Order: sequence, then C-alpha cells, then structure tokens
Amino acid sequence: MPSEADTLTIALTKGRILKETLPLFEGAGIVPLDDIATSRKLIFPTTHESVKFVLLRGSDVPTYVRHGAADMGVVGKDILMEFGDEGLYEILDLEIARCRLMTAGIDGAQQKTAAKIRVATKFVNVAREHYSLRGLQPNIIKLYGAMELAPIMRLADEIVDIVDTGNTLKANGMVPREHIADISSRLIVNKASMRTRNPIISTLLESISDAVALRRTEK
Ligand code: AMP
Repeated sequence: MPSEADTLTIALTKGRILKETLPLFEGAGIVPLDDIATSRKLIFPTTHESVKFVLLRGSDVPTYVRHGAADMGVVGKDILMEFGDEGLYEILDLEIARCRLMTAGIDGAQQKTAAKIRVATKFVNVAREHYSLRGLQPNIIKLYGAMELAPIMRLADEIVDIVDTGNTLKANGMVPREHIADISSRLIVNKASMRTRNPIISTLLESISDAVALRRTEK
C-alpha cells in the first residue's frame, strides 16, 4: 500500500455531476471500491492503489483543492466563476453536466432596466458582475435553493440560475432572459500538487483527456 503522502486525493462533486464523472475515471482505469452513488461514506479507495476519491458538495470542491486537502477536483464552471480559481489550475473541460447560467423572470412581466433591480440567486458575485456590466445596480438577495419561487412571491424581479432544459422555469411561469455563460464540469488541480506530483497527475490527465475525446466521438 502506498503511504498517505503518495496517495492522490480527488474531490468529486455529489449529485447529478457524479453520474457523468465516474465513467470518465473508469475510462482511465479508476473505479471506486464501494458503490459511491449509494454509500454514506465520504472517502473512497479506488482500483488504482494511489488514488482515492472524496465526495463533496460542489461549492466545497474548490476550497479543498485550493488548500491542498485534495490534489485534484471535479467541479462545475458555475462554481469556479462564483468562488474564483485562486490557488488552482483549471486543466480540462470534461464536457459533462452541460447547462447555461442565465437570468430569468416572470413570463410576460416588463423587464426592469432603469430602477434598482432585485435579483435572487446563489451566484451573488456572478450576478453582481453581470448586472453591473449592463449599468444596473442590482440588489442581490442570496438564496440557497428554489430560486424560481422568489419572483412568484415578489421577493425578487429576476433570478440568476442554472438552466438545462428550461422545464423548471417553464413549470413556474418563468422565461430565460439573458445568457451569462455556458457551463460544464472542469478538472482542477492544486497549484503545488501540479509541481510536486506531476508524473501521476500528467498520466491521469492524459487518460481522462482520452476518455473525454472518446465520449465526444461516441455521441
Ligand atoms: P432544467 O429544468 O432542466 O432547466 O433544470 C434546472 C435545474 O436543474 C436548475 O435549477 C439546477 O439546479 C439544476 N441543474 C441543471 N443542470 C445542472 C448542472 N449541470 N449542474 C448542476 N445543476 C444543474
């Protein structure tokens, strides 16, 4: 068994990203030893004796990687845009969990452009920058979920949220308005790990790049 110092720790995002992430690592010969989707564990040894996974909320992944508690991570671009990429390198677009970061409002409602617009979102930094670029001074209301409820309950005029099919917006009488960014999951690496563990990280990067390219051709 390699010592802890030799183990490469990769932080994965729980939830819908995980289902699409695991086949890419499997393509690189790395499979968790337990059923990661159903287990209540948070740390998973893998079939690669030098690699272990830790399972986190997406917004915690950059924090673990930035501080070197994990060497690498898989996280949505939305989270990197919101929390920044200090202390880490974004090394690969995994081309999974694609969606869009958008503003949205109530269908048929007049879009506010002049007055101080109230915007509900969990992406407060992204939202502030987006509205500022349009010359607006948004009053940002931080929420942790169910953003679509805020305009309906008159808590906010618009929301900034992730849109995939648009079904959630539609089901709540809302329409997408402005496109902020295309989102997909990214492979990130701690800056110091990139130097000190370059051989294993480079090998892994090559295998995962191949798995991403293969997935692209199979689609
Ligand atoms: P949809 O109804 O398909 O537009 O999906 C909208 C909801 O699904 C959003 O409120 C997001 O929370 C979630 N969602 C969709 N795609 C992703 C993704 N790639 N990553 C994280 N959450 C997502």
